[in-house]
Amino acid sequence: MLPPQKDRKNYYSILGLKTDATQGQIKTAYRKKAKQLHPDSNSYAGAEDKFMQLSEAYQVLRSPLQRNAYDIDKKPQKPLGKLPLQNCSWCKKVTAQPRFVIFREVVSHNFHSEAKEISGVFCSDCAQNAAIRASFKTWVLGWWGMPFGFILTIATLWRNLLGGRKPKTINSRLLLKQAKAFQSQGEFELAKATAEQARKYTKSPFYINQINSFKAPLKGKETKTLKNNWRFFNRSFAVQLAPILMIAIISGAFSYAFRDDEIKTKKSLEIVRQEEIKVIALPENGDSEFIYQTTSEFLHVRKGPSLHFGIISTLKKYSKVRLTGLVPKTSWVRIKTKNGSSGFVLFKHLVKSKYVKKD
Ligand SMILES: [Zn+2]
Repeated sequence: MLPPQKDRKNYYSILGLKTDATQGQIKTAYRKKAKQLHPDSNSYAGAEDKFMQLSEAYQVLRSPLQRNAYDIDKKPQKPLGKLPLQNCSWCKKVTAQPRFVIFREVVSHNFHSEAKEISGVFCSDCAQNAAIRASFKTWVLGWWGMPFGFILTIATLWRNLLGGRKPKTINSRLLLKQAKAFQSQGEFELAKATAEQARKYTKSPFYINQINSFKAPLKGKETKTLKNNWRFFNRSFAVQLAPILMIAIISGAFSYAFRDDEIKTKKSLEIVRQEEIKVIALPENGDSEFIYQTTSEFLHVRKGPSLHFGIISTLKKYSKVRLTGLVPKTSWVRIKTKNGSSGFVLFKHLVKSKYVKKD
């Protein structure tokens, strides 16, 4: 029995196009025809029907996905003799394992990001190349559109890495059609193997039934074991994973380096804390020579002679303090505040009390 002739819908001829028309030609043809046939400007009987047919044809052909599904069904089935084998639409070679795959690439211009779908019937080699090409283009051109370029790029790279999208029903039909073609050419083992692949793509009882009734007469034949060309971990996966791994390694190295720095700082601080801070003590009683006042609006008094040390207290401007020690080789000094606490400040924030003129 022959499959139904779906090309009776004549979508291409309704639009006045050849089957290899580009998306641009389809759009232009639709606009032209829609103007001519629009029911608002045509009152003759049947104008409305024609307009609806036109719309239906355009709805299908404008979507690469639906168009391909239509094309797969549309190809004329010869009633006798050999059926044509589906070839890869990129390298044109016949493959026992064709797949309909949709990859995506993102291109950003200024603030605008565009995701373009690249779809078709692929052999596994061409699919891998297409995935690598689309991902490479996305890596280079995808990021720059704010704010969606970044998100789209991540999503797209991820999807291409996982092998693109393979719509189930389309692939099931594509593979069953290929199986039928193999059968018509006497390649029964390949026919059976391909039908089994078709089965993996569908859960629909309708297609399962179709596949089973196709396989029934082949029951006695041997099944050819096909090489798993569409395995998940392939060349394309490795090539696409490489830049991601590289970024991971580089950022890992960076954070390790920074962590190292932090540890070193902490260690050196500990050394500073552990070693006794050498201070040359000054006489603490009587002598007004060592009475100073602070010159900063607020001055932090620290536990040790460095900004790394914690703050003990904060002094307001003109607070009186007594210099109690000098720290050799630094500009830090030890002071005692009015309330008797002892700590360190930079000497430049102090001035001798007798020189202070309050403003
Ligand atoms: Zn190919």
